[in-house]
Amino acid sequence: MVLLSHDHLWEPPDFAAAVSGGVTAHVVMPFVDVEVWGGAEAFEDTKHREEGNARRAMLAFDRVLSYVEAHPDQTLLVRSVADLFEAKRSGRAGVILGSEGARLVEGSLELLRCYYRMGLRQVQLNWDYPNWVAACQNDVDGADTGLTDFGRELVRDMNRLGMVLDTSHSSHRTRLEVFELSQQPVTHGHAGAKRITNRPQNLTDDELKALAANDGVIGLHFFSRLVNQRGPDAGQAHLEDLYAHIDHVARVAGMQTIALGPDWFPFHPFGGWTREQGYSFVAGLESIDCLPTLTRGLLEHGYRERDVEAILGGNLLRVLQAVLPPD
Ligand SMILES: [Zn+2]
Repeated sequence: MVLLSHDHLWEPPDFAAAVSGGVTAHVVMPFVDVEVWGGAEAFEDTKHREEGNARRAMLAFDRVLSYVEAHPDQTLLVRSVADLFEAKRSGRAGVILGSEGARLVEGSLELLRCYYRMGLRQVQLNWDYPNWVAACQNDVDGADTGLTDFGRELVRDMNRLGMVLDTSHSSHRTRLEVFELSQQPVTHGHAGAKRITNRPQNLTDDELKALAANDGVIGLHFFSRLVNQRGPDAGQAHLEDLYAHIDHVARVAGMQTIALGPDWFPFHPFGGWTREQGYSFVAGLESIDCLPTLTRGLLEHGYRERDVEAILGGNLLRVLQAVLPPD
């Protein structure tokens, strides 16, 4: 089974490419806490806004769900563990509906339950700015206040409902509090090891150990700036950089902690940012239909077959089986 913990692929060609890539299911996030695809003005307007997010989220989800409903031969909405196996059996690419940031909840557990009924199965607590739920990765030292009271309630309710909690972009304290508080394994859905590439999104060795104690997984990022072992500004990353992250995480937290969270997103080239600065994906892994390249690379590099299966999806399947309803 090939399972991915994070991307933003919801254009029609993306769904077809996911099938060619041999993907069983991927967490697709059409909503982000700040409007990142609507131009500079929309970005500024939504940067610190806690209201209006539910409407923005519903419109985005409608677009994905409408596509999924119209193309039952190609894709299906994953609401349960049984749906994962059905996607695998029928050769379709399942969509696990997710959200990058919890602003869509607008401080209301009632809204969370409505999203669940609609099919939302994953919520990443933060994006790059703090919200009603938790401090984000840009909040350091005194500003890192961890989960809010509402954030703690949200974690409990997501556990109760059966929704995947994701700590990507959350602050150090938020991460540790969620790993501890959550009764179910969580994901840190798109990142790397901080020891290998020093970026705020990446996990320190202590965080990796705490994540392993929660039985969770880190989804390895495919963006050069987050995984280049020569540094975030060192330009194009290659498969060897991913191997460095895999080896480090396996050493610190165990092979069972590793998953894939490529973070492919639909704008290219990256608004004025260049490949030389590292605004690119790992060479050979630029799109979702390239995944067989990774499988071949991992095997050729000498990883055992059972470890390759675990990285490609087995580890994330363990998390999903612990969180999602069985059928
Ligand atoms: Zn992100």
